[in-house]
Amino acid sequence: MDKIIDLSVNQQEFLCWSCHEHLSVRAMFCNHCGSIQPVRDIDQFQRMGMEKKIDLDLQALERNYAALQRTFNVERFMIRSQQEKTYASKHREAVQMAFDNLRDPISRSRYWLMLNKAEAKESATQQNSAIISELHMMYQEAAEPSALDKLAQRTGQEIEMGIIRLLSVLRVQDWDSANKVLSELDELETLIAAVREKRQSLTPQNDKV
Ligand SMILES: [Zn+2]
Repeated sequence: MDKIIDLSVNQQEFLCWSCHEHLSVRAMFCNHCGSIQPVRDIDQFQRMGMEKKIDLDLQALERNYAALQRTFNVERFMIRSQQEKTYASKHREAVQMAFDNLRDPISRSRYWLMLNKAEAKESATQQNSAIISELHMMYQEAAEPSALDKLAQRTGQEIEMGIIRLLSVLRVQDWDSANKVLSELDELETLIAAVREKRQSLTPQNDKV
């Protein structure tokens, strides 16, 4: 049996499928023959060429996303082999997934917990916070569009504050608090969706305003 060599993925050597030269895990194209390489198992920060930190520079993320979209654009692979077209398409998917996941602070936080092996093992049933209970009560009682609009606004503010709190506890690696805030944010997201749905049901179908 071969000895198992414990190398983290970044230290592993990869071979170009076309010319068989050694490449780094991050190489999207071979620097010897120029062939596009398959999507490697790197984390989403690396995928987007971003420094690995919870406070992401969103403008840089968008710039890198635009550059990667150009790099893997369908038209650039028109006269390439089917294999290369397939690789390009897989890269586009992986880039899109990483971009969507990192751009959103809540999904980025969840991913951050996973990268740090600190995600909650199971969603512990916890007592709702006073604010969430109050918002639920308001939801039950709200019968007018204006009351629901106000509630949606209030819930939106709670979500924004929750995100700020989430990022601040992640910065100091307070994983327990982060998991707690995340589950509160889940509750708030569910609530705001319900509020919008109820608001929608109160809007007359042919309302032009
Ligand atoms: Zn090559």
